[in-house]
Amino acid sequence: MVGLNEIRDGEQAVVPPPPTDAGLVFIGRCHTPWTDRATCPRQGRLDGPICRIEIYEPWSPALDGLAQFERLEVLYWLHHSRRDLVRQSPRSDGRTRGTFSLRSPVRPNPIGTHIVQLIGIEGAYLVVRGLDCIDGTPLIDLKPDRAQFPPLAPRQADDDQIGNTQ
Ligand code: SAM
Repeated sequence: MVGLNEIRDGEQAVVPPPPTDAGLVFIGRCHTPWTDRATCPRQGRLDGPICRIEIYEPWSPALDGLAQFERLEVLYWLHHSRRDLVRQSPRSDGRTRGTFSLRSPVRPNPIGTHIVQLIGIEGAYLVVRGLDCIDGTPLIDLKPDRAQFPPLAPRQADDDQIGNTQ
């Protein structure tokens, strides 16, 4: 984890271009036991503590059908992250490398993703295990874990595009 204004040996910050409005809408927020980055796990575990994901209105109807999946992919906005480091020296080993080779929360667009175990749905709240973000982290999206999602039959156009003649 990189502190807000901390620069470690070898790290490189840039002046990022001004953010443009990609039209992102926060659809809820994560309720977790962690109130600061230092105590938050680096990667969530499916046997981690029970957390809740709150879905804001008008999005609760979008939960219909989700309960059949045991695992969900959660995308969240790591809102306390700095966004200007292109090279980082993680505290774990101090070895400097490029931001895109890391899962650090510090990135140009600080999107975090994790697979969580869905324990239940209580109204507009999902009860889950496996999160790794601090309390109040804004939620971007929820999807069924791709490993549990039935694959769609390939379209003819896709077959043609990859030159599949069989
Ligand atoms: N599992 C996600 C991923 O791989 O995309 C996130 C991994 S990131 C290494 C998790 C770390 O981000 C936590 O240990 C904590 O230090 C930090 N973090 C958690 N919530 C955050 C937030 N809302 N803003 C900034 N940093 C956060």
